[in-house]
Amino acid sequence: MIYQNTLAFATQLDEQDSLKGFQSKFLTPKHNGKDVIYLCGNSLGLQPVTAQSEVDQILKNWQERAIEGFFTGDEPWLDFHKRLTYTLSQILGANRDEITIMNSLTVNLHLLMVSFYKPTGNRFKIMMEGGAFPSDQYAIASQARFHGYDPKDAIIELFPRECEFTLRTEDIIRKINEHADDLALVLFSGVNYYTGQLFDMPAITTAAHGAGAFAGFDLAHAAGNVPLQLHEWGVDFATWCSYKYMNSGPGGISGAFVNEKHFNNKKLNRFEGWWGFREDKRFLMPSVFEGEKGAAAWQLSTSPAILLALHKASLDIFEAAGGIAPLRAKSELLTGYLEFLINGINEKHGDELFKVITPGYKADRGCQLSIVCKQNGKPTFDKLTENGVIGDWREPNVIRLSPVPLYNSFKQVFETGLILAAST
Ligand SMILES: *Cc1c(COP(=O)(O)O)cnc(C)c1O
Repeated sequence: MIYQNTLAFATQLDEQDSLKGFQSKFLTPKHNGKDVIYLCGNSLGLQPVTAQSEVDQILKNWQERAIEGFFTGDEPWLDFHKRLTYTLSQILGANRDEITIMNSLTVNLHLLMVSFYKPTGNRFKIMMEGGAFPSDQYAIASQARFHGYDPKDAIIELFPRECEFTLRTEDIIRKINEHADDLALVLFSGVNYYTGQLFDMPAITTAAHGAGAFAGFDLAHAAGNVPLQLHEWGVDFATWCSYKYMNSGPGGISGAFVNEKHFNNKKLNRFEGWWGFREDKRFLMPSVFEGEKGAAAWQLSTSPAILLALHKASLDIFEAAGGIAPLRAKSELLTGYLEFLINGINEKHGDELFKVITPGYKADRGCQLSIVCKQNGKPTFDKLTENGVIGDWREPNVIRLSPVPLYNSFKQVFETGLILAAST
């Protein structure tokens, strides 16, 4: 695509956009009476228009049916979570029974580490990217301590080479190979929250297995953003949240993936609860646990119907959009356009005022660009906000902007470019 820095060009791309109608399926906050340009889907996706009615339906069922709501009506709550796995399995590239919808992300990280962090003898180390999201760092360190290790000994963090901002796949693979004797688990994010780097998950998984370790991924910034093939890649486990690119509400419900090769692995430990018991006999309430087939056996508690209703509102939109492939096609163009406009500002000034630290190759990133401001970072960010552009700010000097293909337009990206240019 040869981009142009003109409103006419941006408008033309919007007209050609097969997803242009989807913006109206979301509710956008206002600033000075006008819809904001919301580039913050990496933190919290917008509210689907249907979220309210989906929640109302649950409340109505509860009012009219009470306990019977679990078993009767259009959406009985008993297996509500199972009915949502089809669309989700397409988004994640998984078989339906390899995923389950439950809890929140950090909780699922812990539950999955109970199963897949199995340190023995010399093999007790966990490899992760340096600068991972804090919750992941805390969860992994506390798991190491739980097993009696000092996190300093048990955790290997990988950092970019000097003067580089993101990790090279070759360096990740080399490090994994170097630790073939002591590695128990490789646990990376799919897309790093800070840099926006999309990791080569299949290559990392293959290397981890070659080194005798499990491979797991935190897909908080990847799910609903980039194409995933968890099953095909042989990933052992993964978890994600639904409130970022999956628009399912603040603190929305998370999910977990367990590769089917582990369904009958008796050596995996698992924390168990009654919602993971096979559904057809759950209410016979026997004393010995018999798990549902697949990832559903990791369920612990009664599913929160209201959170599922919010998740449904968003998954229905993904379904109507035709899944992740068309979204990704638009996303590459949209983020590429923002990058083009930023590069234009730098060229005009003969200086990298806005250094994009997110990888320049489409294959190595999702929709987010992370911009290091050489000067006036916070004032630039404030200027964006004053002009109705919602991004997010990371100390000391990074602005993250995420054009989301479901609800952002090329014209919005163009206008963002104008405001950035005016702030220099
Ligand atoms: C957003 C995010 C989280 C948040 O975890 P919660 O348990 O949902 O609060 C954790 N890890 C990563 C990588 C994230 O991006």
